[in-house]
Amino acid sequence: MQMNILEYLEASAARFPDKIAFGDDKTTLTFAQLNEKARRAGSYLSARIGTNVPVAVFMEKTPECLAAFFAAVSAGCFYVPLDTKMPAERIKLIFDTLHPAFVFYDAKNAANAAAVAGQAQTALFSDAASADIDEAALARIRRDHVDTDLLYVLFTSGSTGVPKGVTISHRSIIDWADWLHETLDIDENAVLGNQAPFVFDNSTLDIYSTLKNGATTWIIPKKCFSFHKTMMQFLAEHEINTIFFVPSALIAIANSGILETTVPATLQRVYFCGEVMPNRQLNMWRRALPEAKFCNMYGPTEITDVCAYYIVDREFDDDEPLPIGFPCKNTRILILNDENRPVGTDETGELCVLGTCLSHGYYNNPAQTEKAFVQNPLNTVFTERMYRTGDLARWNDRGEIMFLGRKDFQIKHQGCYRIELGEIETALLAVPSVSNGCCLFDEPKDEIVCVYIGGEDPQALARQLAVKLPTYMMPNRYVQLERLPMTINDKIDRVTLKKTYIG
Ligand code: AMP
Repeated sequence: MQMNILEYLEASAARFPDKIAFGDDKTTLTFAQLNEKARRAGSYLSARIGTNVPVAVFMEKTPECLAAFFAAVSAGCFYVPLDTKMPAERIKLIFDTLHPAFVFYDAKNAANAAAVAGQAQTALFSDAASADIDEAALARIRRDHVDTDLLYVLFTSGSTGVPKGVTISHRSIIDWADWLHETLDIDENAVLGNQAPFVFDNSTLDIYSTLKNGATTWIIPKKCFSFHKTMMQFLAEHEINTIFFVPSALIAIANSGILETTVPATLQRVYFCGEVMPNRQLNMWRRALPEAKFCNMYGPTEITDVCAYYIVDREFDDDEPLPIGFPCKNTRILILNDENRPVGTDETGELCVLGTCLSHGYYNNPAQTEKAFVQNPLNTVFTERMYRTGDLARWNDRGEIMFLGRKDFQIKHQGCYRIELGEIETALLAVPSVSNGCCLFDEPKDEIVCVYIGGEDPQALARQLAVKLPTYMMPNRYVQLERLPMTINDKIDRVTLKKTYIG
């Protein structure tokens, strides 16, 4: 009976001790090394903190960072990856909600770690990973574990200005990893090229299919996403056969024209998730790799990365939309109209999800949890939680789900960053000289447009926002106005603003 993701790690370490589990352009960790580091640092943690408490990981995206995740899990805790480039103010907001029991950092972030950690205990991960293994403590922790215990918390953008921590249990990830093996052909021969940051849930495909199957993941250096020739060299050098990228990354590669001259010949599986994948660029990939398997996956962090998928099995014109397909195994999808009734074919409704993939809710945030995780309105006889995605969708006449767009103001920026415009607005309105304003999203250009009234010129305003916001949340364009158009209810008239400044 599979209950803990460490069982995957231990089984792979026994089967393939010397095989590289995770590597980047500088370092590698075999399964045996990974398991040993996790157990050593897990023992170190267990001597200092209790179980089922958060361990924040303030480290670069390296194989060692993953060892820190599994060390937290060995200690019966859950890990919380932090973006090391995040402004201190945002980390503080996260920590105000999270109250981590412990913070691991690496040498590169040692100088900032103390300031970031506040009251929490801290350690340089490499120190913790050289501690002695406490077999008795680790065994006791494992005995007490249940599969609904949290595995990780990922912080996404929150509309109130406070980031929300999505809680995910071992059980949900075990289902996900099993499904990937069964449906997407990921086994021990998979060599994955990782694009997703560890703070983004797409990375769980790379991490957990590697752990479960004894596969290998190479972390692709960031520069490869700007220099596509270098990307092709990296894929070939490491014989990468499986990628799971955000569509933006696939689009950029296709648009560069490189696929016409350099075929990434080792690639057998091209998977994507996170935003709409246009068929124009997908067709370029399909022409370059006619034998490869392509899959469009869909899902928010709250349902453990993916709840619907479409294995591309027919031709599409460049301007046709691509389905998001069918619910994953052991996952139920309802598309509900405004009266909470299931929609018929071709009717639009909100996509809602049920099953073990569901998060336990937002960490330390019952108000937001109650809003998004609700009783299944079709079930009046027992408690059954359902997640409302806020996405609009419809069933087509083939029985496939078609994604139609966001219900609210949450946006997807640069392919992977999920941002609630409200969070940027909170930072904007906190600037003393700004009297009012809002943010709009220019989807075709992938630009955040900040419209405001007040004394600051755009450069000065940008400098002030940079203190509060991570780079990926910074507006790309500023519009300074004398006054804002308002609706009859005295709200900012976003429709007029959108028409005027985005078109
Ligand atoms: P995140 O929680 O950051 O993974 O963002 C989830 C949101 O990204 C979803 O609610 C959708 O709005 C969008 N999304 C994810 N996958 C797809 C897809 N395949 N097609 C279109 N939009 C997607």
